[in-house]
Amino acid sequence: MYIVRSVLLTLVFAASQAWSEGPRLYVFDCGLIRNDDITAYGLKNTDTDVRELFVPCYLIEHGEQRLLWDGGLPLSFVGQSDVEVGEGVYVSYEVSLLDQLDAMGLAPDDIDYVAFSHFHFDHVGAGNAFVNSHLLIQKTEHEAAFEHAEENPIFDPSVYDQLADAETTLLNGDHDVFGDGSVVIISAPGHTPGHQVLYLELANTGRIVLSGDLYHFEKSRELGAVPDFNTNAEQTRQSFARVDHLLEETGATLWIEHSKALADSLNKAPAFYD
Ligand SMILES: [Zn+2]
Repeated sequence: MYIVRSVLLTLVFAASQAWSEGPRLYVFDCGLIRNDDITAYGLKNTDTDVRELFVPCYLIEHGEQRLLWDGGLPLSFVGQSDVEVGEGVYVSYEVSLLDQLDAMGLAPDDIDYVAFSHFHFDHVGAGNAFVNSHLLIQKTEHEAAFEHAEENPIFDPSVYDQLADAETTLLNGDHDVFGDGSVVIISAPGHTPGHQVLYLELANTGRIVLSGDLYHFEKSRELGAVPDFNTNAEQTRQSFARVDHLLEETGATLWIEHSKALADSLNKAPAFYD
């Protein structure tokens, strides 16, 4: 009896060790963008039938610490559908990111770090809720978002301006968030001055790169399409090459964050990828 019990305890211990080995990735539905016309994305309307862009938020749990990656549409859209935000551009947002976190027993103050692929309104929409988290941001993006946002209409400071007071690390390139290589911010500028993507090493799922807006559509990647509203086209192409190289070197899979086809195939939180 004693032996059986100690063997069981050993197994439970081994299982919990394996359980806590690598990061966990949670995917949240933080809205939808529908476009009548996709030519602004550097595509022809005949290149693809896709008109809907999924808007994700992600939570990465690493041991006792948590990183939020991308903050979805502005919370003011929660509960609304097909709100026209620009000519032929409509947004919908069902359940607030904050309510989705709450359903997992998490409050914004439980999030240690926040990082956003960039500061466009559909990626930092819950930004002001995370003033007590530690912001990881490229120096160039910080300048664009907090010093001259008016030069870029897709930045909406009203949803993130309080982050100016957050504890902040200004990055000048790549950044290993937890120091073990499993969650690494990769600088990929061009869409905005300090656009970045996120490299993840998950024990069972494998290696993933969360694209930010390096590409919006699957077709964008195939065609190397550069949106008209990117801040620097040449820099964007260099970032395409840089991330391609990373994918080749690591064998990682690129998750195009706005791909609705991909999002439809993924398990949403509280399910997770580890
Ligand atoms: Zn976007």
